[in-house]
Order: sequence, then structure tokens, then C-alpha cells
Amino acid sequence: MIIAVDGPTASGKGTIAKALGEHFGLPHLDTGLLYRAVGRQVFLDGGDPDDGGDALAATSFPDSMLADPHLRNEETGGLASRVSVHPAVRQALHERQRSFATQEGGAVLDGRDIGTVIAPEAEAKLFITASVEARAQRRFLEMRDRGVQVTLLEIEDDLRRRDERDRNRAVAPLIPAPDAMVIDTSSLGKDEAIVTAIKAVEEALSA
Ligand code: C5P
Repeated sequence: MIIAVDGPTASGKGTIAKALGEHFGLPHLDTGLLYRAVGRQVFLDGGDPDDGGDALAATSFPDSMLADPHLRNEETGGLASRVSVHPAVRQALHERQRSFATQEGGAVLDGRDIGTVIAPEAEAKLFITASVEARAQRRFLEMRDRGVQVTLLEIEDDLRRRDERDRNRAVAPLIPAPDAMVIDTSSLGKDEAIVTAIKAVEEALSA
């Protein structure tokens, strides 16, 4: 069984996907991490994330990169969003995601194009969304806890920029698959969001 979980940054999709993996006993892949690794590698190479050649070269990042704590920061998120517009980068990361999705026993993947491109045959597809304000507030509290100095307005601006880029790119834009169940987490707490997602998957499986 494949469960596809898509949605914008800070919508709660990563938390939900991880919880679904635990609930249904399936391995989970955060595909954003792959794009973040490419973004980080371009930076380390001194390359230009907007240049397709530089970004493609960075897809050969070493596996150890996936454990780099810098992948989680906002700068790397911005770089990931820029390298991910290049079709050759998406193609280079396709096989890795596809083989994870199709492993025996199934898997949960979260990202932007899992239900539309990577695993259109997924048995359950969720599209997790939330207002920019709710997402910015969550990110703000998270960063404040980590001691990062940033304003709510700066986070909102960054989220809007990344949403715009993710939604309007020519290849694999961020859009719900026609058969995805949309869950808005704006007014849901973490546990409520997880329970709602588990119910949605059970519904999809019994349909
Ligand atoms: O989900 P996360 O914020 O870690 O993703 C970072 C960036 O990687 C996103 O803004 C998006 O541009 C890109 N991405 C993508 N396709 C995916 C996962 C992430 O284009 N499947």
C-alpha cells in the first residue's frame, strides 16, 4: 500500500506522514529532504541554484548529506525550492523516490508531487493544507524555540514566495491530485490532524 501525502511548507504534512507510517507500519520518506540536499550541495559547490546545470550536478550529493543538520534550516528550504523547478533535477531524483514508493509492503511518502507524479497509483492520497498565517505562526514558534531570531512577517513573506514558486512551476507544480482528500489543518491541533488523516486513509482504503 502506498500513501501519498502532499502539501505546502509547514502545513503539517511531515508530522502527519510520519504518524501515518507508524500507525500503518510503513516506512516513511520525506522527499523534501532530497531537494534540500541538492540545495545544500549547490551552496557548498559555490554554484547557482537557478542554473539548471549547477543544480543537476548537485543531485550527486553524498548519502551522508541527508543527515546534515543544515538541511532543516530556512535558507536551505529556500535553495531547495529554487533547485526543484529544474526538470532535470526532478528527473534525477525520480528513481530514488519511485523505488522507495514501490518497495515490498508499501510506503508513505510526503512531498509536493507524490500523488500526481511519483506514485499516481497510490491507494490513499492526502493533500494537507493550512492558511499562510497558521503555517507562519507554527514555523515562528518552532524557530523561536530553537533560538532563531526572526519575525512573523519575515516568515510569512518567505512562505508566500515559496508557495508561489512551488505552485507556478512548469513541471510537477504543487496541486492536489484529482482523487486526493484535502485536509485543512489551520484550526487543528497536532493530534486532531493526525486522527483526521488516519480516518481519511481508512476511508480511502475501504472505498
Ligand atoms: O517539504 P520541504 O519544505 O522540505 O521541501 C523543500 C522544497 O523542496 C519545497 O519548497 C519544494 O520546492 C521542493 N520539493 C519538491 N517536491 C517534493 C518535495 C519538495 O519540489 N516532492
